[in-house]
Order: sequence, then C-alpha cells, then structure tokens
Amino acid sequence: MKFFPLIPRGIRYTDSTVPPRDSSVTAFLPGLSVIPLIQHIGSKANPVVTVGDRVGEGTLIGRGQGLGSANIHATVPGRVVRIVSWKMAEGLSNDALVIKLDGSFEKLGRYEEVFPWDTIPPFELQRIIAEYGIVEMEGSGRPVSDMFYSLRSAQDTVSLVVRCVFDDPWLAADYVLLKERLEAVAEGSLIAARAGRMERIVLVFSRREKDIAHSLMEILEKAGIPITLILTGSRYPQRNRRELEIVIRRYAQKEKIELGTFLALGPATLAAIHDAVKLRKPILSRYVAVGGSAIKKPQVMKVQIGTRIGEIFAECGGFVDKPRRIGSGSPLLGRTVVDMDEPVIKTSFAIFAFLSGQLGGTFRSKCIGCGECRVVCPVGLDPEALYKYVNCTESLYVRPGKAAECYGCGCCEVVCPSRLPLSTSIIRSALKGNYVWI
Ligand code: SF4
Ligand code: SF4
Repeated sequence: MKFFPLIPRGIRYTDSTVPPRDSSVTAFLPGLSVIPLIQHIGSKANPVVTVGDRVGEGTLIGRGQGLGSANIHATVPGRVVRIVSWKMAEGLSNDALVIKLDGSFEKLGRYEEVFPWDTIPPFELQRIIAEYGIVEMEGSGRPVSDMFYSLRSAQDTVSLVVRCVFDDPWLAADYVLLKERLEAVAEGSLIAARAGRMERIVLVFSRREKDIAHSLMEILEKAGIPITLILTGSRYPQRNRRELEIVIRRYAQKEKIELGTFLALGPATLAAIHDAVKLRKPILSRYVAVGGSAIKKPQVMKVQIGTRIGEIFAECGGFVDKPRRIGSGSPLLGRTVVDMDEPVIKTSFAIFAFLSGQLGGTFRSKCIGCGECRVVCPVGLDPEALYKYVNCTESLYVRPGKAAECYGCGCCEVVCPSRLPLSTSIIRSALKGNYVWI
C-alpha cells in the first residue's frame, strides 16, 4: 500500500458549517412528495401515470428516454394529485409529479426479500440496474447503465474503481453512508464488477480514511477478486476524474499492474446498485448533508427522494437569520436553489444555506494581478486571462489550447482576493459554446 498524493495545486478545503460526520438521522416522511422527471443528465423521463392514479412505493412513474435518461419511481405510496412545472436557476425547465402520501408502505420498515445475484449473467444485471433507474448519485446523475454500455468498446482489461476520496467537506453524507452501509457498498461493488465483467476492484481512498478502507478491503477479499488499495491526498479537487486517473495510472505504472480501462463509482451509487439487484428496490431515499451558517442544526439526514428542501431545513431547526444563498451540492460547484419547494433528488448529496458573512461579502474590485488563481488551478490554466477574455475586458494573446480543459472546480474563484466570479464566468461561457482558447 502506497500513498499517492497528486495535486500540488488545488486548495485545502475546510468549512466549519458542514454537519458532523458521526451518524445520520432519518427525516420525517413528507405528506406531499415532489418527484421530478429529470433527476439525471439526459432528457425528461416520459410519465407513465397521471393525475388521480394510485401508486405504490417503488412504482415506475416515468420511463427514461434514451442515453442519459433514467427511469423514475414513486418513493411513497399515495395518489398523484398534480403535475407541476418550474424553471430551475439555470433556466432549464422541469416537470414533477406531486404524490400525496396515502396507504401503507411495502418496503420501509418491513422484512425485505433478498434476491441472489451471483449466478445472474452480466447483461441481465445491467438490465436490472437500468430498470431501477440507478444513476451516479455523487453529482453527475449519469445513468450507470450508460456507463456499462460505454465499456463495451474497451479493448483491454476493465477495472472498477471505488472512489472514496473525501477532498470536499460537503461529501459528509457519502462518508456517513460508507460507515453505516459498508456491507452494502462492498456487495454493490461486487455486483458492479460482475455486471461490467471487471477483473479487478481498485479502492481509491483519501489517506485519512484508511481505517474504513481496510475494513472494506477485508470484506471484499473474501470474494476472491483481485483488490488494490491506493491512498491519495485530500487536497480539493483530488477526487475529480482527471486527477484520479493520473494517480491511478501512476500507481499502475510503478506497481506494474495492468488496470486497463476503469469505471469509477462512489459509495452512494454502489449501495444503490446493491439495493436494486439484491432487494429489487429503486432509489427511494438518500443521505444528504444539510448545513451552512444559516442552519440552526446542521446534520446528515436520510431523506426520502421528493422531500421539499424547505421541509428539511425546518427539521434542522430552521434558520438563525435570513439566508443569502441557498443551494444544492457542494457550494464550490453546486447550483443555486430559487424555490424552497424544490425537492431532494437522486443526486442531492448536500443542501446548504449561507448567511452573507460566510459568502465573504459581495464587494468586488479589479484584478490586482496577484496570480493566486494561477497557483491553485489544478489544470495549469490562467484563470485571470480566461476571465478577462470571456468578459471582453482586455484583448489578449489567443492560442489554441487549454480553456476547454477547465472543469469548473472553483478553486480560482475561492482564492481570488478581488472576489471575481472566475470559474462561474469561464464555465458559463463554455456552456454557451463560446470556447475560449488561451
Ligand atoms: S480555471 Fe477552471 S480548472 Fe482552473 S481553477 Fe478555475 S475553475 Fe478550476
Ligand atoms: S486571483 Fe483574482 S486578483 Fe489575483 S490575479 Fe487572479 S483574477 Fe486577478
């Protein structure tokens, strides 16, 4: 076992307002659940129930349509009472089915039937994972079945990477899930490896979590599949796919191990794969880190998908004062929430509410040319130049290259003493197709 820190750049990201990582509390079941038809990266799922229909817990209510889209299920028993539409902060529209809780639960708190999976062929496991609408729950929302599909073109060996790099304190919910559902994460890893015909499991953990890494390794070793443990640093954004791949390739080269193509999945997704295949259960709930300086009692909660964000904040004691920013995901990358009736979805690993002090104020001044943004950029870009270019504040020397490599980690924006919206502007420009080449 070796330690492979990578990023000499990046930032050490800490935040005293994230919830403690000790344990989770279970949130109340919502009387009204709002289940969006987009909880993934692709197009809207096609609704298969309508207003007035009765649904059970886990009933299919939206059928995924093509690549990037995933099936959507009811998360409580009840009746569909409305279909609502709203515009999200990015301007995208979404529709949701509103379900009024009514009737008894068939899964929650009941004895669950267990389905053996070790003789099921890989293609059938992939079908089950797709049927239960499993997506990458640690942020992207990409359907896991699409990820398996993309492995078909791999010419070499394929490895599963269990990605447990906690470089961002807002990943607290993933950490608590890993502690509380370690057996499910382990078995989910074995199921994923079988479904993707993978020959090795690579555990990539940040070094300070090495105890839990060893516990996971002990469980997995009993299954007889080759296991490799790589410990990394925890400077943000060590967990990013690009940084992770560099670490893994460097490890493979040093140790002379053939890892081939790899598929990286996080603990929440692996637990969901376990539930889909072994319990025939879609994603009904998820672990969410609820925090920020405006929240009276930050905590990691187990929340039913479809619970409205306003209700979750109320369960955390409400606000100490009027929040200045409410959002979902990590504050560095996350999206702003404009309506407290927006619900928790499959990818909502954190929700936060900040007072203005925590935002560092809104005062912006001119670039002072300190170069801090260049020092921290993990890709080696020049965020100052990119920012000035996309905002047309200066004419710059332009050469083909790097700007499209910006993945919006937010490091440059955090360190800028002039509080310029560096990554926000660069990414917005890239999303509009205005690729800047500097
Ligand atoms: S330019 Fe992009 S990749 Fe570099 S620090 Fe800023 S957001 Fe991150
Ligand atoms: S960190 Fe901000 S002030 Fe410093 S060079 Fe970059 S853009 Fe300019």
